[in-house]
Amino acid sequence: MPDTIYNVAIIGGGPGGYSAAFRAGQLGLKTCLIEKDDKLGGTCLHVGCIPTKALLFNAEIYDHLKDAELYGIDGLGAGKLNWKNIQDRKTKIVAKHTKGLDFLVRKNKVDRVLGFARVRRGVTGADGLPARRLRQPRRNRNPVGFGCPLGEFERPTVQ
Ligand SMILES: Cc1cc2nc3c(=O)[nH]c(=O)nc-3n(C[C@H](O)[C@H](O)[C@H](O)COP(=O)(O)OP(=O)(O)OC[C@H]3O[C@@H](n4cnc5c(N)ncnc54)[C@H](O)[C@@H]3O)c2cc1C
Repeated sequence: MPDTIYNVAIIGGGPGGYSAAFRAGQLGLKTCLIEKDDKLGGTCLHVGCIPTKALLFNAEIYDHLKDAELYGIDGLGAGKLNWKNIQDRKTKIVAKHTKGLDFLVRKNKVDRVLGFARVRRGVTGADGLPARRLRQPRRNRNPVGFGCPLGEFERPTVQ
């Protein structure tokens, strides 16, 4: 099978996409994961679940520390928030998980494609089955052309 023909092509490297890609890879399917951003993780890792929970934990600690004496801890004084350190901690957590996803992509033998995928009608795959054609955005002068039931591309940008 040529390198550019896939059993499964998945659009979007958020939790939905990367979980599906890892599972497909584990099942032995030749899989590519197309993500428009240069980092995997999607909304959850970069905007939603993870950063918000990291920040909420800072707030929780701060809230408890305000009542330190009530819990029998004296001498802490009035705490002051250090926004830079709070942001740095959050950024480190996100970066660690992003690296973890990069590792899992390699471990599960998923090909990563950097680009904006589009599903188009009316293209027939190499095996004659109805196919979908996906391309990178117009601003990219080297469009990725896909054809095949679930993905064949001519010029991958794999990281
Ligand atoms: C503030 C906030 C807090 C949240 N907190 C929680 C929480 O605590 N727990 C929880 O379970 N959920 C939480 N969520 C919801 C969670 O983030 C989403 O349910 C989850 O991210 C959905 O995953 P997904 O893979 O479907 O989509 P996304 O995470 O949105 O990923 C989609 C990915 O696809 C890429 N993409 C889109 N279109 C294309 C294209 N055409 N070509 C290539 N790539 C493309 C995007 O760049 C993105 O990386 C929160 C959401 C927000 C906004």
